[in-house]
Order: sequence, then structure tokens, then C-alpha cells
Amino acid sequence: MKNNEECYIVEDLLLGYFQNLLNPETKKYVEKHLNICKNCKNKYNYIFEQKKLEDEKNAIDEELELNYLKKFNKKILMLKTIIVFFILIILGIVVFGGVKYLYNDIALSKIYNGYTNLKESNNYTMICNETYLEYESKEKDTSSLIYKYKDKKFVSKRIDLNIDIPGYKNMDIKNNDITVIGDLEKNEQIIYLNNEQVKVEELEIPLNDTYLNNNINNINEFNDWFYPIIVTIKTDKYYQKECFIVQYKFNKESYRELWFEKETGILVKSIEENYNRYYRERVYEFVEGNVTDEDFEMNHESE
Ligand SMILES: [Zn+2]
Repeated sequence: MKNNEECYIVEDLLLGYFQNLLNPETKKYVEKHLNICKNCKNKYNYIFEQKKLEDEKNAIDEELELNYLKKFNKKILMLKTIIVFFILIILGIVVFGGVKYLYNDIALSKIYNGYTNLKESNNYTMICNETYLEYESKEKDTSSLIYKYKDKKFVSKRIDLNIDIPGYKNMDIKNNDITVIGDLEKNEQIIYLNNEQVKVEELEIPLNDTYLNNNINNINEFNDWFYPIIVTIKTDKYYQKECFIVQYKFNKESYRELWFEKETGILVKSIEENYNRYYRERVYEFVEGNVTDEDFEMNHESE
């Protein structure tokens, strides 16, 4: 009876015992009973096993949760990395584009200013040597042009001509020297073939648009805002002069390259290529201030 009574008490205390809630004296009492009572010891063992299983299960759950968190964090980190990566790429493109734009804009402004200065110049000589190669016929042509300008008058002299210029279009001029003396104020030009006058005609080019425009491939177009974006500008030396090389593709078939002297912005070379048809290279030379009135007299020219 006494034993049984004790058993009830110990049974009530067992949970507290496992949860470590008992004071030392009560704990000792429980332990003492467990040592002598097989029945209670069995109950004790049973609860102990259950608790152990539960602890293990909790441990596993905790680990699973931890693993899940770890995986989640990993995913977040990866996502963050990808976002940062793309932001950096976009930033890179923007910065690169901006730098390219600024660089090109500065270079083109320099070129344009050089051209404007030259255009405003009242006295200059331009020499242009052209090589033209036609891919299909393999025909190669070279021609030279000397153009002098002074006080709204110009004289141009060319040898073996392949370039379209006003007044020559319907003439058989191959292997001939052509000289044109023009007056922008009178709006007329006189054409000489091998030093013989053959034609007097109105100027086809507008008065304010000097011959320079035609020969520098309408450099005016560089003033368009979008050019800095679409062109590629490199630097290289041409006969020991530092140059800007402006490269651009009009479309899939044609390519153009223009070389400008860095210091003055003056055009020194141009390459024009139509991939399936032809290649044209022009080399320019400009001299300022060497034109005299005598240059516009044909008799003087022919002597
Ligand atoms: Zn007992």
C-alpha cells in the first residue's frame, strides 16, 4: 500500500523530473523510489525513450528548417548577384556610351571647326589625288585635282577624270586635262579641255557652297547630333601627323573612312568603299594663302 501510494506520487512527479522542475530534495526522493520500484522505473524508461525520440525529431526538424533557410538565403544572394551584375552591365554600357559620345563629340567638333575655318579662308589650294578601283572589271583609275580659291574665284585642273563635277558629265574627258575657271560672283565657269576653251556655263553649285563641300564629302553632315553615336573614331599617324580616323557604315554595303589631322581638323585622306562594287581613296593636301590672281588666267596656266 505504501509502495503503491508512493508510485502515484512519483508518477505525478516524473514529468516535472524530466523537465528539471523539481527541487533537489524531491528529485532525490524520486530517484530513490526508481531504484527500488521496477514498475516506476519502467515508466521512467518509457518516458525517457519518448522524450529522446521527440528530441531527435525536433533536432531533425530544426536542421531541415535551417537547411531551408540556408537554401533560401543562397537563392536571395544569387538573385542579388544577378541584379547587381545586370546593373553593372547597364551602367557600364551607359558610361561607355557616354564616354564614347563625349570623345567623339569633341573630336568631331574639332574636325568641324577645322573645316569651317578652311571654308572661311579666302585663299587656299587643295590638291586631291584619287585612286579608284572597280571590283568587277578590275579597272583601276587615278586622277588628280588641283583646286585653287581666292576672292570668290576658283580654278580647278584635273587629269584623267572619274569624279562627277558640274559641267563635265556629258563630255568625253578621259585622259585629258580639264581646267575650269569659275567666278562665284558672276555665277559662271569657263571650261578648258587641254588648254582650249570649250564651254562657258552657269555654275551648277550654289554660290555659298564652295567647291570644298563637294570634295570633302559633305562634311557638314558631321554637325548632326547623332554622328557621335554612330561613328567610330580612332587615332593614328599619317605621314607623322596625328590623325583622327572617323569610320562609319552607311549600310551593309558601304563603308567610309575619313582621316583628319588632329591639330587642324583638316581632311587628309578619305576612303569610300562599296563592298561589291568599288573602292575609292582620296588623298588631300591643303595649302593656305598661296593663290595669286595670275592663277586664274588661262594663258598663264598654259605657259
Ligand atoms: Zn513505484
